[in-house]
Amino acid sequence: MSISKIGVIGAGLMGNGIAHAALTAGFDVILVDAFEAALPKALATMTKNMDRQVAKGSLTAEAKTAALARLVTSTDYHQLKDADIVIEAVPEQLEIKKAIYDELAPVLKPEVLLASNTSSISITKLATLSGRPDKFIGMHFFNPVPMMKLVEITRGMATSDETEATVHKLAEKLGKTVAAAQDSPGFIVNRILCPMLNEAIFALHEGVGTVQSIDAGMKLGASHPMGPLELADFIGLDTLLSVMRVLHAELGEDKYRPAPLLVKYVEAGWLGRKSGRGFYDYSTTPPTPPK
Ligand code: NAD
Repeated sequence: MSISKIGVIGAGLMGNGIAHAALTAGFDVILVDAFEAALPKALATMTKNMDRQVAKGSLTAEAKTAALARLVTSTDYHQLKDADIVIEAVPEQLEIKKAIYDELAPVLKPEVLLASNTSSISITKLATLSGRPDKFIGMHFFNPVPMMKLVEITRGMATSDETEATVHKLAEKLGKTVAAAQDSPGFIVNRILCPMLNEAIFALHEGVGTVQSIDAGMKLGASHPMGPLELADFIGLDTLLSVMRVLHAELGEDKYRPAPLLVKYVEAGWLGRKSGRGFYDYSTTPPTPPK
């Protein structure tokens, strides 16, 4: 099956990144959000990020203009009636995703594929709710989507070989490398990365090291581009906590227990970069750990 028109539902952090990557790869994109105000915001973000690519020389000014001309934004799901695939990137709540699949069912062409960017909900469960389980798949992008090269692709129990092959090819056309992951909590990357970040928070709490020494240790001693506490702040401590809770609940092992200090930070509203404070204080340049 060939794909030329991609629908994206949810114009937030991930949805606008997915739309951006699809537009610069030459696809037509219909970006739908339930909230009118999200659409100009997403367009402004994409324009700013494309301008940055033009300044770096990785995109020409003509290609940017052509990419944005292929974009349609709307609050109306009916705009998706001609899409060849719809990629859903709405908040990580089962009820919201289910309500959208119900609204989409009468709108989409029968052969249309549906992909979810979910980080933690079972693909088989979502596929069943979608009513088109053979045409449903997990397509897990990473933030920021235009820069990050990986897509985890996860089949549900009923996903067809054709759906997987088509989506694999699409991910490559978007310039991504595919890692096939089983339908298991956290897939591959979050399953391995989040417990490592959580462990760094345990180590901080126990006084094994300071914020700076833990981050310097992993950067210089393990060649990680960012320290684990800096990375936890970047991802968002609330997001990290919710992934740890899913791993803990679904895999049922103590090794996934969220660090109590992580829980306290989230209770305090110290969510990392996005709230201005986490393990670092982002009101200072460079960010430094609060006293
Ligand atoms: P976000 O909150 O930035 O964006 C969600 C968007 O969905 C918002 O624009 C919101 O207005 C819109 N929305 C809400 N209800 C809607 C509805 N009924 N119909 C249409 N649009 C609706 O969230 P995000 O960080 O982009 O996450 C989206 C999905 O991607 C989640 O499933 C999340 O788990 C997954 N994900 C997130 C990351 C990350 O780093 N943030 C990484 C990989 C995957």
